[in-house]
Amino acid sequence: MGNDTVSRPPRQHVVLFPFMAKGHIIPLLQLARLLLLRRRHITVSIFTTPANRPFIATFLAGTPTAIVELRFPENVAGIPAGVESIDALPSMSLFHTFAKATELMKADFERALKNLDPPVSFLVSDVFLWWTVESASELGFPRFVSYGSSTYAVAVSTVVATSGLLLQHEPERKTMITVPGFPWIKVNRNEFDPVLENPQANPVGHGFVMKWVEATNRSFGIVANSFYELEPVFIDHWNRDIGPKVWPIGPLCLQAQPESLNTRDVVHQWLDEKLEKDESSSVLYVAFGSQVELSSEQVREIAKGLEESYVKFVWVIRKPKDETEDSFPDGFENRVKNRGMVVRDWVDQMGVLNHKSVQGFLSHCGWNSVLESLSAGVPILAWPMMAEQPHNARMVVEEIKVGLRVETSDSSVAGFVRSEELKKMVKELMEGQMGKEVRKKVKEVADMAKAAVEEGGSSWQALDTLIDEACKFRP
Ligand code: UDP
Repeated sequence: MGNDTVSRPPRQHVVLFPFMAKGHIIPLLQLARLLLLRRRHITVSIFTTPANRPFIATFLAGTPTAIVELRFPENVAGIPAGVESIDALPSMSLFHTFAKATELMKADFERALKNLDPPVSFLVSDVFLWWTVESASELGFPRFVSYGSSTYAVAVSTVVATSGLLLQHEPERKTMITVPGFPWIKVNRNEFDPVLENPQANPVGHGFVMKWVEATNRSFGIVANSFYELEPVFIDHWNRDIGPKVWPIGPLCLQAQPESLNTRDVVHQWLDEKLEKDESSSVLYVAFGSQVELSSEQVREIAKGLEESYVKFVWVIRKPKDETEDSFPDGFENRVKNRGMVVRDWVDQMGVLNHKSVQGFLSHCGWNSVLESLSAGVPILAWPMMAEQPHNARMVVEEIKVGLRVETSDSSVAGFVRSEELKKMVKELMEGQMGKEVRKKVKEVADMAKAAVEEGGSSWQALDTLIDEACKFRP
């Protein structure tokens, strides 16, 4: 007892900075909760714009996370005043302009970082906030990249984009390309953003993509909302041949979800009622994430397909920005009222997917939705519409075989789907033989996911190692 120095717990401080879109914010909020659960003496701060604060504060209620606000730059050409998140953009064509403008927040970000106490141990920031790697390097702590997609999607798109193969095929065309190193995977040429190889057509977009690719290369690692057993081939490939190292620490939705964001809401009550009337009640959940916007014609076609399929369904629909009313066929909601529910609000999607009666998910294959469905053991009817969703959908259907796919009636990525196709595939998923097979497989995958996040599981261990390694820089 000669030494009276009391050993203090390490003062670790993790800063999280998600991109301003729900699908990017949610996994980092789950990570915030998880870090606080796993390390008693950790401090977590999350950076965002004022408009996103209420959503974040609700999600993190009851936790000691600090929310630090940074103003989105004013007077950015094309971005209406007051718009601070992707969901509020008048059109997705402004995405690159919005994302590039975040760079103007750098000075404020660094000023705020310098004032944090305890000092920052490491940063996890969104792939689109590429410039944060420079802040981390200037201030002397490691930066991890947070991607909003599977490692499969990131690996396959990186391999194809760097192979020169895109230049050999006309953009916008439906031409199949065999992925170098993965001969069993055939991707469609039109799934790749033309900004990749045509800088003149979209200089802002091209410059932005190049910046985030380069910034990822300079980062300490990638925090992946995935688990090793789900995509070992792609995680190994990435770590061996591409880098920086991927740390699969998910599914985050299984480890750190708030009790319920909307306890016993109307959707749950409706699902409960269906189950009371019929113990074997089987409901299709239909939702396309927080960004996809459907045309009026497409909404009508979905309504018709669901009505004619005769399955029970819950459909979460975002109102088209140019419409004041939904574009359902006349009398649709009335005709389906005994077996279908339309919701025009934010629902507790994890809660819905985990309801016993939900047996299928018609999804755009945003990565969070995919993981939430897999974790709940619910098979997917995949209908990808943009960004990396076609890769995620291929992975779901062809690689892990936990879903079926709807065919589009034209060759564009955000392809139109006719009611007959929808009806056929919905019936197949909910009642057919192929549906039975993917339902069986998804239950196995759900068990694997649960094992990965349990104490000693692969994701559990990866997070522990990540924290220890990242904190070595500033003990
Ligand atoms: N989500 C939700 N309620 C809704 C709509 C979406 O909880 O009414 C959540 C969903 O559970 C997921 C996220 O929003 O966590 C959407 O992310 P995803 O990657 O699936 O799609 P994105 O919105 O990025 O296209």
